[in-house]
Amino acid sequence: MTIQEKNTIEKLRQNGYGYKKIAAELNLPIGTVKTYCKRHLAMEDDKQRCPVCETVIKQTPHKKEKRFCSDKCRMKWWKEHPDLINRPSKYEYICSYCGKSFSSRNPKRKYCSQRCYIDSRRKGGERHE
Ligand SMILES: [Zn+2]
Ligand SMILES: [Zn+2]
Repeated sequence: MTIQEKNTIEKLRQNGYGYKKIAAELNLPIGTVKTYCKRHLAMEDDKQRCPVCETVIKQTPHKKEKRFCSDKCRMKWWKEHPDLINRPSKYEYICSYCGKSFSSRNPKRKYCSQRCYIDSRRKGGERHE
């Protein structure tokens, strides 16, 4: 890599360019650009970047943290990860014993707490009349 190329990488990086864009701009392999940035540019991993185009995301203070730089990238990402769309990390359930709603990652869970589980087993026999 020439000094000029290195300078250009740094300049583009400061302007929020992603590795892909820089690589295309300089006609370099993306791996070379990435390695150079990780080794030579400080604070490289401190900023949050768009997972699609790697542009630095400008967060708006007091607003919900953005994950993508734009709607376009967000839609592209979801298109590429369709299996993640309908999979909430937690599910809402109603406790079979006390009727309270609770959330759990375990789809087989029936009770909101260990206590309800134990109580329902203990009183289970008494309920049959
Ligand atoms: Zn993006
Ligand atoms: Zn319960």
